[in-house]
Amino acid sequence: MNRRRRIYEGKAKILYEGPEPGTLVQHFKDDATAFNAKKHDVIDGKGVLNNRISEYIFQNLNDIGVPTHFIRRLNMREQLIREVEIVPLEVVVRNVAAGSLSTRLGIEEGTQLPRSIIEFYYKNDALGDPMVSEEHITAFGWASPQEIDDIMSLAIRVNDFLSGLFLGAGIRLVDFKMECGRLWENDMVRVVVADEISPDSCRLWDMKTNEKMDKDRFRRDLGGLVEAYSEVAKRLGILTESDNPAAKPGPTLVKG
Ligand code: UDP
Repeated sequence: MNRRRRIYEGKAKILYEGPEPGTLVQHFKDDATAFNAKKHDVIDGKGVLNNRISEYIFQNLNDIGVPTHFIRRLNMREQLIREVEIVPLEVVVRNVAAGSLSTRLGIEEGTQLPRSIIEFYYKNDALGDPMVSEEHITAFGWASPQEIDDIMSLAIRVNDFLSGLFLGAGIRLVDFKMECGRLWENDMVRVVVADEISPDSCRLWDMKTNEKMDKDRFRRDLGGLVEAYSEVAKRLGILTESDNPAAKPGPTLVKG
């Protein structure tokens, strides 16, 4: 069916060769996985919502001068991106205790942290993405000390932007994961934000009710994932008020 060359297939996305050298097409699937893919499901409409939410975030980051791989959205499930060399790290920024931080350090979920905390995990499915320190990263050459500095600056800027964006939508940004890539421009290389930022990779709690509006609905079998992601999109102004988020066959989106 698909004549484009497939470069890579991950758990929730596929990367295809792009129309021009140095570009790729990022395709959002409906697959949801958790616990290192031990739990898997297909959730109708999730890919469409993540494509739109991630587009909105990356376009805004580009507009405020935070460099990303994002060029433009192509259709309901796909976006055009710049080809980068992914730094093999998951960068987690936390504002409020939850998930693995709460488990590891025994801090009650929902506790405001004294300041934002940045953590690094080595991207390796076979090892279950272990947490690593800057020492490991530089010793094993996954990123240079300068790149770690650049990644941390990006992480702080993204966190500040996202915290404000979601605050305005009545949503608390508890934590999120981002990935970075090396982008070559002529003979220069710089680190940019890559992959996706969506409710799959953030913890988002309703400010008033504390209701979860993110992938924890899937991880913790709470149900209503598409409805929650639709609500996030609606509050960000991506979905129109009149759209029924639970409408079949899928969410109706503003503009084509
Ligand atoms: N996260 C992610 N992908 C991963 C691991 C974590 O997107 O492979 C996100 C997760 O959604 C949350 C943040 O990173 O917003 C912190 O996750 P945590 O370390 O608490 O792990 P979890 O509890 O999700 O296993």
